[in-house]
Amino acid sequence: MQREPLGESFGTTEEHARRLDEGDALSPFRDEFYLEEGSVYLDGNSLGPLSRRSEVEALNALRDWRERGIRGWTEGPQPWFYLSEKLGALTAPLVGASPEEVVVTGQTTVNLHQLVATFFEPGNGRTKILATGLDFPSDIHALKSQLRLRGLDPAEHLMRVPSRDGRLVEERDIVAAMTEEVALVVLPTVLYRSGQLLDVEHLTREAHRWGILVGFDAAHSVGAVPHSFAPWGVDFAFWCGYKYLNGGPGAPAGLYVAREHLGRRPGLAGWFGSAKDRQFDMEHELTPAEGAGAYQIGTPHVLSLAPLLGSLEVFRDAGIERVREKSLRLTGYLAYLVEHELSGMGFGIGSPREDRRRGGHLALEHGEAARICAALKEAGVVADFREPNIIRLAPVALYVSYTDVWKTVTVLRKIMAQKSYENYENTRGVVA
Ligand SMILES: *Cc1c(COP(=O)(O)O)cnc(C)c1O
Repeated sequence: MQREPLGESFGTTEEHARRLDEGDALSPFRDEFYLEEGSVYLDGNSLGPLSRRSEVEALNALRDWRERGIRGWTEGPQPWFYLSEKLGALTAPLVGASPEEVVVTGQTTVNLHQLVATFFEPGNGRTKILATGLDFPSDIHALKSQLRLRGLDPAEHLMRVPSRDGRLVEERDIVAAMTEEVALVVLPTVLYRSGQLLDVEHLTREAHRWGILVGFDAAHSVGAVPHSFAPWGVDFAFWCGYKYLNGGPGAPAGLYVAREHLGRRPGLAGWFGSAKDRQFDMEHELTPAEGAGAYQIGTPHVLSLAPLLGSLEVFRDAGIERVREKSLRLTGYLAYLVEHELSGMGFGIGSPREDRRRGGHLALEHGEAARICAALKEAGVVADFREPNIIRLAPVALYVSYTDVWKTVTVLRKIMAQKSYENYENTRGVVA
C-alpha cells in the first residue's frame, strides 16, 4: 500500500479531477452524509459530518427511550446496558485489537486520565512520563495533573521531546529520550497540527526495550489510518469519537487496553466498570469486568453513543484500508495542486511528504493563514486555522471528492490573486 507520495502523475485540470472521481470506489459513500450544498467540508478532523445511518441510530435511541423508559437499559433492539461494549467491538477492527480490548466511553481526556491513573506506577527510580513538545494541550494538562496527584513536580518529571522545526517530532529523538527513569511514554499517533504520523510499531518496540509502558493518543488517526495496536504490542490507547469517526459533537471516546493488561485494577474506578452480571449486586467491593469495559466509570451517555452505531457501520462497509488508500491519494493530490497551482504565493506544506509519515490532513502554511482561512470559509470551503500560521485541510476519504480538492485549490488561487483575504479581520485565537 505504500506509494511514493507524488510519484503518481496527477494533472491540474478539472477534467483530471473528474477522472479521479470516476475511478473512486468509495465515491458512493459521499451520499451517506449530510453535506452543505455547494460547500467543501475539509474540517472532518475536528468534527465529522452527520451520516444518514447515524441519524437513524440517534432517532432509534430516542424512540427506545420514549417507548420503553427504564426498560431501554435491558430490552429492545439495542439495550443501552451493553452499548459501550458493543461499540468497542465495532471499533476494534479500526485499531487492530480484539473486541474485549476496546470500549467506547468517556472523553478523550478523561480516558487519558484513566489510563495514566491505571498504568503509571512510579517507583524504583522510574518516575518520569515522556511526551512531546507538540502534543495536544489537553494531554499535557492531564499528564501534569496526574504527576501532581502523585506528589511529583511536572517540571522535573514530565519530559517533552522537542521538535526540531516546530512541525515534526523525529522518532529517533523520542527513542533517545527513553531511559531507565521513564515509567510511561504517551505519544500522539498523528500530530494534530502537522499531520505527522509517528511510527507506532517502532516506538512501541523501543519503549519496551527500556522496560517502559507505552500508550498512544489516536484522536487524529482512528478512522483515517489503520492500526495494529495488539500485534504491535501497544499497551494502551485512547481516541475521540467526533473527528474521523463521525460520531457527532461530544461523541464519547474510545480506549484500548492490551489483553495482557486486562485485569489491572482501574486507577479511576466506578460501578460501570463492574462485571455486567455483578453490577447490580450493589456490593461495595468492585468486581471489575474482564475486558476493557473495566475502565468505564459511570453511566454511559446513551444518546451521544447512538450515532456511532451508524457511523461505525459505514466504516465496516467501506473498509479502513480503502479509506486510507484514498486518503493518501487525496492529500497527495492536494499537495500536488498546491505546488503546481499556488507556487510563488507564499504557501508551504508543513506535513510530511512520505505516505508512511502522513495522517489524514495537510497543514498548509502561510503568513496570512488566519485571514485566508476566513476567506475560504466565506467561499464555501470549510477548513480550520491553527496557530501560528497553519490552515488545516482534511480531505476525508468517505465524503470528500477529488473535484472538491481541485475546487479548494482553485478558490485559494482566486483569494490570493484578488487579495480578498485582506477584507477579513485577523481571527487568530478564534476557534473554528
Ligand atoms: C481532539 C483531540 C483531543 C480532544 O480531547 P477531548 O477530551 O475529546 O476534548 C485530545 N487529543 C488530541 C490529539 C486531539 O486531537
